[in-house]
Amino acid sequence: MTESWGRYPQATHAAEIRLSWLPGLALPVLGPMLAYGQGRSYGDSCLNDGGKLLRTAGLDRFISLDPASGVLRCEAGVTLGEILRLAAPRGLFLPVVPGTKHVSVGGAIANDIHGKNHHRAGSFGRHVLRMELLRSDGGRVEVTPADELFQATVGGLGLTGLIAWAEITLRPIPVAAIRTEAIPFHGLDEFIALSDESDARCEYTVAWLDVVARSQRGIFFRGDHAEGAVRAPRARGTVPVDLPLVNAVTVRAFNAAYYAAQKLAGQSRLQHWDAFFFPLDGVGRWNRLYGRRGLLQFQCVVPTADALRELLRDAPSSPLTVLKRFGALQSPGMLSFPRPGFTLAMDLPNRGEETFARFARLETIAMEAGGALYPAKDARMSADTFARSYPRLAEFTRQMDPAFSSSFWRRVAR
Ligand SMILES: Cc1cc2nc3c(=O)[nH]c(=O)nc-3n(C[C@H](O)[C@H](O)[C@H](O)COP(=O)(O)OP(=O)(O)OC[C@H]3O[C@@H](n4cnc5c(N)ncnc54)[C@H](O)[C@@H]3O)c2cc1C
Repeated sequence: MTESWGRYPQATHAAEIRLSWLPGLALPVLGPMLAYGQGRSYGDSCLNDGGKLLRTAGLDRFISLDPASGVLRCEAGVTLGEILRLAAPRGLFLPVVPGTKHVSVGGAIANDIHGKNHHRAGSFGRHVLRMELLRSDGGRVEVTPADELFQATVGGLGLTGLIAWAEITLRPIPVAAIRTEAIPFHGLDEFIALSDESDARCEYTVAWLDVVARSQRGIFFRGDHAEGAVRAPRARGTVPVDLPLVNAVTVRAFNAAYYAAQKLAGQSRLQHWDAFFFPLDGVGRWNRLYGRRGLLQFQCVVPTADALRELLRDAPSSPLTVLKRFGALQSPGMLSFPRPGFTLAMDLPNRGEETFARFARLETIAMEAGGALYPAKDARMSADTFARSYPRLAEFTRQMDPAFSSSFWRRVAR
């Protein structure tokens, strides 16, 4: 059964169509349909219960790369990992990467993803120069940032049609190395001081927080591309079956061990980009550690430190709580999530109503603070929260393709 990364909610699809070879590609005529990239969204934005899925993994061809300008054109099923394998040895790198490299270009655009350099580079969509969309009326439309259909498609949750290919600007890098530091901190004031200092001089910044510890300790990571020789990390295997290992005891033990290990690693060191950006990719299918019922992630952005403080007062014990301050660069999509403020993400095992109630409390705090929730991670937000998070929703709806829909859309659309 095709699932999202969080494995909740489940969906049964009427058909799954594996797309390949763009030149002759025509969309099936009957909706509702939805593109599915690598299924790295956590909730239901990549699912289409009762409808069709257009699986894009076969749209995996590179079309052109101009090494001088860094402009890459590729089909939308190419993954960011595949791009980095091609580009990094040629001294080029993606302008924005998320916490996993197993994400397709189409998925990166449709969620207008962000990375550890949001304060410098903004969101992924800012680096897309043009793309081609296949619409259900048989049209193939090329769009650029000035077009309304482009602005609806970036962050558009796959609802404006199928992205066939895209052109992205890559950036030059010296070599494969990143100079990194892992700095222990206690409490939000120290996190904010570290963000102030580090965002001003480092390209990449992010923090991990041990919400179980009473002192709210954490590790602040910062880094920059640098000269030096490093070796690529080796994969540590794949979780072979569902092993529900995440509970209060293991989270406490994991957090203590992770904090101690990072504190030791502390001082400035060189790391391969793969280890720095994608530590979670070292273990394949790690979502199975949450068991059959899966996991949920709560991710919001709130405008003030006071709102963040309130969210953390109510924070459940999660092994993966991540904090980052977004910069001021405007996101190009009508429904883009990144905006100025603090973004907080936390993973929790799915324990049904108990977990949903916790998420509902966090959602209320975020919305009362004037924040927004991230559809790529969401399985629970209300229609009201979606509308309040995305004030350009009416403008977006006018650009939707009528034959496209998703489980997420049917849940939040009014
Ligand atoms: C471990 C982990 C870490 C992550 N870290 C981050 C992070 O740091 N920052 C961040 O922003 N996100 C992060 N994410 C979320 C992830 O980047 C997004 O969910 C991304 O969109 C997933 O891409 P995908 O190819 O798997 O797309 P899917 O999850 O399969 O689909 C996502 C959306 O894209 C649409 N779509 C896919 N392909 C196309 C296409 N060709 N045309 C039109 N629409 C399309 C789908 O319809 C759907 O709406 C993380 C996810 C994981 C699992």
